Amino acid sequence: MIIQKFGGTSVGTPERMQSIAELISDGEKKIVVFSAVSGTTNTLVDICTALHKKDAEEALSLVGELSKLYTNFIIKLISKEETKEETLEIVDAYLNGIRSYAKKLFSPFIERSILAQGELISTNIFYQYLKSKGQKSVLLNALDFMRTDNSGEPDQQFIEENLQFELSKYPKKDLFICQGYICRNAFGELDNLKRGGSDYTASLIGAAIKADSIQIWTDIDGMHNNDPRIVEQTRPIQELSFKEAAELAYFGAKILHPASIRPAEEKNIPVWLKNTMEPSAHGTLIHSKSSAKGFKAVAAKDGITAIKIRSGRMLMAYGFLRNVFEVFERFKTPIDMITTSEVAVSVTIDDLTNLEGIVNELKDFGNVEVDENQTIVCVVGDYSAEGKGYASLIFNALDEIPIRMISYGGSNHNVSLLIQTEDKKAALTALNKGVFNL
Ligand code: ADP
Ligand code: ASP
Ligand code: MG
Repeated sequence: MIIQKFGGTSVGTPERMQSIAELISDGEKKIVVFSAVSGTTNTLVDICTALHKKDAEEALSLVGELSKLYTNFIIKLISKEETKEETLEIVDAYLNGIRSYAKKLFSPFIERSILAQGELISTNIFYQYLKSKGQKSVLLNALDFMRTDNSGEPDQQFIEENLQFELSKYPKKDLFICQGYICRNAFGELDNLKRGGSDYTASLIGAAIKADSIQIWTDIDGMHNNDPRIVEQTRPIQELSFKEAAELAYFGAKILHPASIRPAEEKNIPVWLKNTMEPSAHGTLIHSKSSAKGFKAVAAKDGITAIKIRSGRMLMAYGFLRNVFEVFERFKTPIDMITTSEVAVSVTIDDLTNLEGIVNELKDFGNVEVDENQTIVCVVGDYSAEGKGYASLIFNALDEIPIRMISYGGSNHNVSLLIQTEDKKAALTALNKGVFNL
């Protein structure tokens, strides 16, 4: 069995849904995971923002826009009269659900419920479309098996058991459709796997059924060597190891949700990144075999804050770092990068919820400096020890860019640099030229 996940742009128009119906019709047994139609989740976020500001009128007008969009979508997509009417009613019921939330006191629960509607709508429309063409499929409800635990992490055992149970109800069926992104949390409430989470759903489902492969179908021909939204000339990468892909996803390559590689890696399931608009393009294969040595790609993660703690007491002392790290642990704030010298340690974080508390406690250990608006640039590749000259190529390329922190050697796959966010475009462009000759 394989998993095929289609992102927002891939399912974004009636024509695209029609081509997906052809793409998935190869007779292979599969689960097809759908994102919301592109733009929908952003609109749902805007609806929540309006409700948070108690602007129900604005929220309802946004629901009205969605209603127009989906009415036209369905009319174009489904020609069979009966199914068309039925689908319009189904989508209307979801949108009415959002309208009814607008009358209630806004809460995090309502927010998460509203955010879940996009994937419920897109999968229902696609299922109805297949039905109108006489193509048999089963519409699974992700809320029956996708679940997070007390710490907000996917509950893999629950997912495995309950997905297997759902599938066992249809032993003769080959085509299953299900929503990406949405799940229930440990309290059984509607929740989600964070923005871009449909990739994560695909990987978790793939791991749960030990799929033969997980295919992430998107609007570009695979992972590129640099961010195509920022740098003009980029090229697709044919092959990446799990480790390399995971670092790129974690450090900002938007094509993959940050956590989406781990479940596939744990079960050693190959992941393909493919282009829905150009299915014959090779795309990127992510698997366990270590691929070519040297540089693979650059990614950048914004919204980073650097914290430096300087103290004479650190010199020749032990236990200092443990005290510092315990502060972050107490505030449940993960650290991304670390650099140390004899008298100072710098760390970076991207979750600023507890910044004030963290800084106050760190002041007990020394002088604390905080720099916001930083970006981690991550140069990913296979830098096995026998390789030489990687660092010098990177630093030569960046000789015009002020660098705040450098981390090299933590893994064989990653050189990370901290720069000011305003220098990001210049840094990515310089690395494209100096490291990739583009
Ligand atoms: P989907 O809606 O299919 O999930 P996303 O928008 O989440 O698609 O991810 C695909 C986008 O990721 C591409 O259109 C591209 O702009 C962006 N992207 C950022 N970095 C990279 C990269 N290194 N390689 C490929 N795409 C990238
Ligand atoms: N629809 C969600 C989002 O826009 C999840 C996804 O597309 O992966 O973030
Ligand atoms: Mg995405």
